[in-house]
Amino acid sequence: MSLYLERIFLNRISPQLRNFSEKGGVYNFSCPICGDSKKDSKKARGYFFEGENRLIYKCHNCGVSLSFSHFLKHFDKSLYRQFVMETLKEKLIEKNQEETLRTQFLRAKKTIELVKDAVLDGLPTIDELPKNHVARVYVNGRKCPSEKLSLIYFVENFKDWVNKVKPGFFKPDSKFIADSRILFPIMDVHGKVLGVQSRAIKPCDHKYRFITLSFVENSKERLIFGLDKVDFKKPIFVTEGIFDSLFLPNAIAVLGSSYDNPTLKSLQSRVIIVPDNEKRNREVTKNVEKMLKAGFSVAIWDNDITAKDVNEAILSGYSKEFLVKMFTNNTVSGLEGLVKYKLWQSDRS
Ligand SMILES: [Zn+2]
Repeated sequence: MSLYLERIFLNRISPQLRNFSEKGGVYNFSCPICGDSKKDSKKARGYFFEGENRLIYKCHNCGVSLSFSHFLKHFDKSLYRQFVMETLKEKLIEKNQEETLRTQFLRAKKTIELVKDAVLDGLPTIDELPKNHVARVYVNGRKCPSEKLSLIYFVENFKDWVNKVKPGFFKPDSKFIADSRILFPIMDVHGKVLGVQSRAIKPCDHKYRFITLSFVENSKERLIFGLDKVDFKKPIFVTEGIFDSLFLPNAIAVLGSSYDNPTLKSLQSRVIIVPDNEKRNREVTKNVEKMLKAGFSVAIWDNDITAKDVNEAILSGYSKEFLVKMFTNNTVSGLEGLVKYKLWQSDRS
């Protein structure tokens, strides 16, 4: 987390750093320590680069090597004091969140390992289906990574299955079509199924294409896909759609464009939100701005990518590695983040 804070403070002093520029997370400018140089003001041999979740300063002229905080202490004493305060605040918040996570995690470990929730009994996963099965063909068509196929299920008759899990969920006269669907079980950290998102594999009425159901009262908007698999100690990517999350490491999905969710809040220090690439969609941008204001980190898309989400980007030929690198390099937060996000939005190139 301190890396974000360091970047924010570095951006803050950047107007005072001669010849300042940034490329791929590496910052370059004229070293203020040695003057770099008296003879040629165009010289810029000071560099900040990332190492072990920290920014490290090196000057190729005077050879000085400093941590960010030492550099700042030398450069601007009053801003340095602010930085120290912010770092302390951050540490306290992180410590509290870590406690919460640790207790959650220990609690999850203490209960008997739930291998598979019984509600999924009898449903095949996509990798268990014949290669030419319509559901498998559909999922493969979306280039789903083969190691993720076992997370997706197939149900022959969605309506009947739901009624078996939750008797009376669909009334006998319900207009809902009893079709075959692929099924994403949405679980808690223990692997207990809290709800499902299903997707029709045959053409159907647009409003029934995706159906998300919660088996827990009044909690549809709180469902998060992937919590049972995620490592809470590592950075967590958060996407809108489930398919998108399958292409990113340690990722979860919020099933929509709203990130208002107490679980996400408790994971804030770990979370990098990867919104859909839809700068003209007011709903998407409004929600992202809200999260930036609330202190979350958000990944911004490169302007030359036209795909509207991660899955589309994969389908149009970008590799997972490329996207992860782009999102990591383009992660912003705080006020600076909000400014950068708004700049991105207004770029209509
Ligand atoms: Zn120097």
